[in-house]
Amino acid sequence: MQRVVLATHNAHKVDELRRILGDALEGIELVAYDGPEPVEDADTFEGNALIKARAAAAHTGLPSLADDSGISVDALDGAPGIHSARYAGTRDDTDNLHLLLANLAALGPDSARGAAFVCAAALVVPPRDGAVGPDGPAVAAESTELVELAEWRGTVLDAPAGAGGFGYDPIFHPDGAPGSAAELSVAEKDATSHRSQAFRALAPRLRAALGA
Ligand code: IMP
Repeated sequence: MQRVVLATHNAHKVDELRRILGDALEGIELVAYDGPEPVEDADTFEGNALIKARAAAAHTGLPSLADDSGISVDALDGAPGIHSARYAGTRDDTDNLHLLLANLAALGPDSARGAAFVCAAALVVPPRDGAVGPDGPAVAAESTELVELAEWRGTVLDAPAGAGGFGYDPIFHPDGAPGSAAELSVAEKDATSHRSQAFRALAPRLRAALGA
């Protein structure tokens, strides 16, 4: 069975990705990554997702998938954006969402509440050393790199609601949803989330790149 590494140490993301990709990746085994984490110093979600996927592919020699995601708030000029995980400086989800609520409250009661969860899904397939094409020479001398970007629009609530999900889910009300993302069932979140959209778009391209 073809093995593909999931280049994330975030257990919530691993759970979501296994659910989202389960059906689409029949015959492909998703394995967790336990190697070193690279420095994510790109200034876009796509760039940071590729940095993570490249690091896992280089470390394992296997095709690697990575997610870089966060919340971008319109009234905060897109912040925290790519800095979502460390917004409060502590890497703590509760600290992060309370800082976001405080920064939005500081703009006044009439400030716009629009926001989006954004996800970049990246695949890096390392060169297949020693593979031989039909005419003899080695094939796939270079890595294959693919990225898909997706967003999930909604509004930021005044206070956290719900106990499901992770990260900023309790303060994000997706457009058209009955409550916060933390109040949705996993099936409801998977049906529309940024991560689900990005990885479902990537899945057929991944199968094609792997010849699976
Ligand atoms: P990353 O792991 O460096 O990509 O950081 C992602 C950040 O965005 C973390 O703070 C997460 O909590 C947050 N985040 C990403 N996706 C979601 C989501 O689906 N729900 C809630 N927070 C999310």
